[in-house]
Amino acid sequence: MEKVTDETRKLMDDMLETMYAAPGIGLAAIQIGVPLNVIVMDLARDGEPAQVKYFVNPEILEDVEELHPYQEGCLSVPEVFDTIERPERVKLRYLDYNGKEVIEWAEGLYATCIQHEMDHLKGIVFIDYLSRLKRERAVKKVAKAVKLKAAT
Ligand code: ZN
Repeated sequence: MEKVTDETRKLMDDMLETMYAAPGIGLAAIQIGVPLNVIVMDLARDGEPAQVKYFVNPEILEDVEELHPYQEGCLSVPEVFDTIERPERVKLRYLDYNGKEVIEWAEGLYATCIQHEMDHLKGIVFIDYLSRLKRERAVKKVAKAVKLKAAT
């Protein structure tokens, strides 16, 4: 996808709504079943004005060796949280909501979140980084949560 069209913007609007309803701070298109390289994000905390960011075709151009630990969760892996270490800063290239190319460094939570969301585009979820034992425990927890949801 080289261009951002009205269709892409409609998708991003829908994704943002889904993300807020969840609620979550980031969402990849594949999480709502759309296999496109599109991500939406809003890292504002409660009470802060929205800081919405849209990413079309994001790429990581560069990263750093220093790792930043963060307790991650995921809308696709309900009720599981675990600490994952990822590069503290990444240099990104992406197209924004208006199709303009942006090149910038992301750091801290922004860097963590974009790497988490870009993993979704590759079919990776954060529990894939956990030890086998922890991952099996997480998978069981998710299965239980999904069953509970189906029962209500
Ligand atoms: Zn996720």
